[in-house]
Amino acid sequence: MGGKTRRAPATEERRLYPERHQCAACGQRLSIGYTHGRQVATLENRCRLKISIGRCENPACERYHRAVHPAEEGRVALPHYEYGLDVLAFIGAQCYQDHASAPQIHRALQARAVQISRRNVQYLLERYDELVALSVRQSPERVARLNAQGRLILAIDGLQPDVGHEMLWVVREVLSQQVLAARSLLSSRHQELSEVLREAIAGVSAPVVGIVSDGQRSLVQAIAEVFPGVPHQICQYHYFKQAAGAAWESDRHAKKELKKRVRGIRPLERAVAGREDEPAQLVEGYCTAVRGALTDEGQAPLEPGGLRLHERLEAIDASLQRAAQKRGA
Ligand SMILES: [Zn+2]
Repeated sequence: MGGKTRRAPATEERRLYPERHQCAACGQRLSIGYTHGRQVATLENRCRLKISIGRCENPACERYHRAVHPAEEGRVALPHYEYGLDVLAFIGAQCYQDHASAPQIHRALQARAVQISRRNVQYLLERYDELVALSVRQSPERVARLNAQGRLILAIDGLQPDVGHEMLWVVREVLSQQVLAARSLLSSRHQELSEVLREAIAGVSAPVVGIVSDGQRSLVQAIAEVFPGVPHQICQYHYFKQAAGAAWESDRHAKKELKKRVRGIRPLERAVAGREDEPAQLVEGYCTAVRGALTDEGQAPLEPGGLRLHERLEAIDASLQRAAQKRGA
């Protein structure tokens, strides 16, 4: 992508895995081919994505060794973009709903701590225009490519950059990672969404065999209407994040309480500082282990930090007890 905005370090790391375990063509179990790293600036943070890429190992399959990216990756950012889809939606909303100029949009993004050059704002604005104008039916080559693929898996996301802004709905095809349609809608009733879904596959004869979305009610209705009987999977990350909400909060509280009981590391470290003997090294090792456990934040939504701290402290305690017993023997 054009422009030379200097990269700031990532503030969050996320691991993404392919949502599907079976090859879309032959049904054989996918293996994880390799892991691919990407850094993306979103409205919330700078996110380092570690993406596991699946692939089919069946030499007879038409999708043999073709990369299978997680659908979630495209929800964060389109392929080859350094900026999140939410930044793109924000820029579009600022321009067409708030009638902001490019320099104003640039300032608004900086105010939200998104590091971006003015040139990149202009570049993304052009990409936004292209996306929203996109219509698959007007490109016979695209239709032919999608049909040759034999089947489509759709992912549908609604992005609302700010309260009061229109929602940008983006329909992607997961196997090819292409955007099929993007529309900015004031109302997200199921009738409007059905229209966007129909538009996304207009002229394409290859069947839609699966759909991924975040499960918003009107969207579920629209999907059932346009694609009756097609399996619809609620995006795991958002599903778990919502489901984990309350549990995550109590875990955070538990962690705070647990941390209060693990104090006094610093005086211990100070007491053995500069000593080279074995007991001193042991004490230092345990202090490092406890420090490591205390700074482990866990990872939303499946690895709560409090539980993880508890597990790590228990392992350290067990190790200490074993050491004490040995010494006793
Ligand atoms: Zn296969």
